[in-house]
Amino acid sequence: MSAAGCSPPLPRLAVVPDACAPGLPLTDSVGRSVRYLRLGVTDRCDMACVYCMPEGYRGTPRREQLSVDEVVRIVRVFYAVGVRTVRLTGGEPLVRRDVVHLVSAIATAVPGLDLALTTNGALLARLARPLRDAGLQRLNISVDSVHADCFHQLTRTGDWAAVRAGIDAARDAGFTEIKTNTVVLRDHNLDQVPEIARWAHDRGLTPRFIELMPLGEGASLMNQHVPWTEIRARLGALLQDGPTESPRQRGPAFYLPVRAGQGRVGFITAVSNHFCNTCDRVRVSARGELRACLANPHGVSLRDAVRQGATDAQLLHLLRGVLAGKDRHAFTTGPRAAAAVVMTGIGG
Ligand code: SAM
Ligand code: SF4
Repeated sequence: MSAAGCSPPLPRLAVVPDACAPGLPLTDSVGRSVRYLRLGVTDRCDMACVYCMPEGYRGTPRREQLSVDEVVRIVRVFYAVGVRTVRLTGGEPLVRRDVVHLVSAIATAVPGLDLALTTNGALLARLARPLRDAGLQRLNISVDSVHADCFHQLTRTGDWAAVRAGIDAARDAGFTEIKTNTVVLRDHNLDQVPEIARWAHDRGLTPRFIELMPLGEGASLMNQHVPWTEIRARLGALLQDGPTESPRQRGPAFYLPVRAGQGRVGFITAVSNHFCNTCDRVRVSARGELRACLANPHGVSLRDAVRQGATDAQLLHLLRGVLAGKDRHAFTTGPRAAAAVVMTGIGG
């Protein structure tokens, strides 16, 4: 269908010729297909990690966040143009009181979806089983240390015993995949990298190590940044050097296999070796702002469009317009722009 056959475009939108074609895959300005949506469901959090949460950050009032029905509507529109993985994130998604209902509503409305969630794990002991029963398939859990004192220091408020209990509950609940995420800081947990990897493998989890990014609070901590090659060196002979699993079948991580036995270790190398060439993702914040790139502080409001009564064709028009402007991220070219991104607002 041509653009001419659609309802009038929403204000301030560039008209793109295929704006109203739900069947056409979503692609960006350089032809990358978009298959993965990170969806913020709240920007509030019950921790305050040193590299993430700005001092005095106030969350968005609930009425300004996407409702369950609005989330489902947006997920359906993305699914119609080829997005097959949705990862719920935040803030901390589990502090949203209706999170189980939200998962259930998405899983019921879009049964073919690969539905995942990233959490700090603090509330998982109670919620792991209900989330699994509601249709959640995969989990990523942040584990910056396996020592209670260091964990508390890095998360400012976190209780490692509660997170451990949450991880145990998640293992019992039968998720198809559980990964751990560790942001590596030179003077805090770099020396714990082998221990964290072993801890995760012993429990059948896949450990991933993330380079600190100059986003939000991370921007003022870049003296703590450790390039992935140095993180990998800490794992010495534990890992084979190749072939790497990937190239990046799903998400930005790549994985090295463990030398003896089963398992792998993942690396997310957004700073030293950025992955823009293969980026297949797009983000919607808890306020419903669509952002083509993590490093870009500016978005377009899908929430406002939905609340103004936009049709699916008009929402697609917005998606295609934003994706048409997606290029490469700004960590290397504009660190100030990236620092303006609040991670709790956009969800990592
Ligand atoms: N609250 C959940 C959690 O911590 O897993 C989900 C939201 S959190 C923003 C998503 C991911 O972003 C986490 O793995 C976190 O470690 C990571 N993250 C936050 N700030 C970061 C930064 N400046 N650099 C690298 N990763 C960061
Ligand atoms: Fe909260 Fe996650 Fe940010 Fe830590 S990384 S402050 S747990 S949103």
